[in-house]
Amino acid sequence: MGRMYTLNQIPSEAQIRKYLRRILFGKNVFCPDCRSRRVHVQGGRYRCKDCRIRFTLLSHSWLSNLKLPLETWWMVLWCWSCEIPVKQARALTKLSTVSIRKWFDTFREHLPKETHVLEHIVQLDEAYFKNMTLIMGKQKGTRNLAYDVIMGTAVQRHHAGYFLFRKVKPGSELWTDGAAIYKGIGKWWPVKHSRDIHKKFEFEHTSEIEGVFGNYRTFARRMYHHHWSINLEKYVREFCFRFSSPELFKNPLFYLTKSLTLGTTC
Ligand SMILES: [Zn+2]
Repeated sequence: MGRMYTLNQIPSEAQIRKYLRRILFGKNVFCPDCRSRRVHVQGGRYRCKDCRIRFTLLSHSWLSNLKLPLETWWMVLWCWSCEIPVKQARALTKLSTVSIRKWFDTFREHLPKETHVLEHIVQLDEAYFKNMTLIMGKQKGTRNLAYDVIMGTAVQRHHAGYFLFRKVKPGSELWTDGAAIYKGIGKWWPVKHSRDIHKKFEFEHTSEIEGVFGNYRTFARRMYHHHWSINLEKYVREFCFRFSSPELFKNPLFYLTKSLTLGTTC
């Protein structure tokens, strides 16, 4: 451990505190339990004059266990926002790999809920990993993605069906490759199905979704260095968020504004 690097994009501790207070409490601090604004402040600690609970800035948020200096923690968040690889983040922050991965996991877990129902033209395809399969759909011409992670590599029609029931609007057009699992799928869910015929060297029905799979593999390898199938679900989730909502990752503040709320301590 050496001294932390000082960088222009990392706000001062006082500034970070101000950001966190504004996001969590707005203009005036209130009791996270009873919402009373009759709050006694002393040395950065608070006490509610009505229900008498004691709290701190972060005690009722998912950052209640934060023990790092705020500037270091912000640097980790900044790294994660910018897709900086784990090893680079470790060299920059001087934290351990375990600690960086733990924080990256925490940031990912607190991404807001995102569920796209795809419509109009939907490209659907599978990608295979060790003992796992990823089924992913992309609404053509948009950044909307939806996915399922399936144990094993023996994907069957009912997996494709289950995906469609929940994630593709009835009446959509469904574009796939020639895989057998999609054969006659329109009889299980009301979609207008068309597919590539590989003998004719047709690939345009899945060109966008295949591009997304390529981007995903590059993302996971570059940022996390290994790709264990056990991490497939969480990395795909993060990837989809980055793909669909890039604005959330432009500044740690945007992410915190969306993800940080009172009352979720776990
Ligand atoms: Zn109270």
